[in-house]
Amino acid sequence: MTRQIEDLASPYLQGLTPYIPGKPIREVERELGIAGAIKLASNENPLGPSPLALRALRDALTESHRYPDGGGYYLKQALARRLELTPDHLILGNGCNELLELMARCFLLPGDEVVIADPAFIIYGMLAHLQGCTTVRVPLKAWTHDLEAMAKAVTPKTKMVFIGNPNNPTGTAVEPTELTAFMDAIPDDVIAVIDEAYIEYVPTEMVPDSLRFVREGRPVIVLRTFSKIYGLAGVRVGYGMAPPPMVELLERVRAPFNVNALAQCAALAALGDEAHLSNSRSVNEQGKAYLLEELHRLGLECPPSVANFLLVDLQQDGQAVADALLRIGVIVRPLGGATLKTHIRVTIGTPPENKRFIEALKAVIQSEPSPR
Ligand SMILES: *Cc1c(COP(=O)(O)O)cnc(C)c1O
Repeated sequence: MTRQIEDLASPYLQGLTPYIPGKPIREVERELGIAGAIKLASNENPLGPSPLALRALRDALTESHRYPDGGGYYLKQALARRLELTPDHLILGNGCNELLELMARCFLLPGDEVVIADPAFIIYGMLAHLQGCTTVRVPLKAWTHDLEAMAKAVTPKTKMVFIGNPNNPTGTAVEPTELTAFMDAIPDDVIAVIDEAYIEYVPTEMVPDSLRFVREGRPVIVLRTFSKIYGLAGVRVGYGMAPPPMVELLERVRAPFNVNALAQCAALAALGDEAHLSNSRSVNEQGKAYLLEELHRLGLECPPSVANFLLVDLQQDGQAVADALLRIGVIVRPLGGATLKTHIRVTIGTPPENKRFIEALKAVIQSEPSPR
């Protein structure tokens, strides 16, 4: 019977496997029968949610019987003010994953080509595949997007290019001038999706003025999220900035009430919590310096990350090391694929979490390789 159900599915589902997220802490603890596992696998803010967001969440609970504001009025107003855009340039999503999905559903047709860096955030390729598109993968150069090569990979069939800036899983960012040159090089019927999920961690001089392209009305969407530095991954809220005609199209496919009431209140409060933001940035910088030094001492190198995670080349099977770390309660992300077999991605945590990771890593890589 199952065989027949599968035959009813879209042919583009063939060859797709579900996205595997980092394991939740409780699941690992339950499976291992241990307590005190730490998770450095999904680039969450180790300091937790903004305290202002927590208070807003508690206050908002009493209104849970009401549908949310379907237009996200207050959150859009606050974002617009901050970004110097009008609210009609904004779309809210159930995480920016939903906005990526809406972009795919609005614009990608079977046979379209989509240009993606390799490696990049896995979701881009999955969404393109699901729409029946051909994915053109352009290898990174010195661990970051090779925008010149990506511009050259654009053909008359190209519908969309994805740029993760910073890129996941490398943590690297493109030079702002390179992004401008890229945007000037691509034809105006190619949509650029600029995914800035980690942009708040990036040093100012490396932050491109990507909103300029939006204000100019080019076919661009810039995506940001409350899941990373704002510490609200579990609440699910992200936003996109695009020219009003693009927002209008996305609004046609978006489900009503896609961003729940708690998420809207929490995001609004988090947006105004400058103290939490700057604290998160400095804990990240200190943690990054510590981890880089310790990893270097172990002879392990990482691409120059400007985000809240590091891609570590272990020079041995990354999956095996991740499995061994998991058994001692340290959850990191193995990457696999053709290019990253010997790598793991680790989120920069609090000082005790970073120390625990380094000690666990030492124990694992200095012991005999585990049989696999
Ligand atoms: C985490 C992440 C996102 C954001 O996901 P949400 O759906 O907002 O939680 C988007 N893009 C990249 C590259 C990410 O790493």
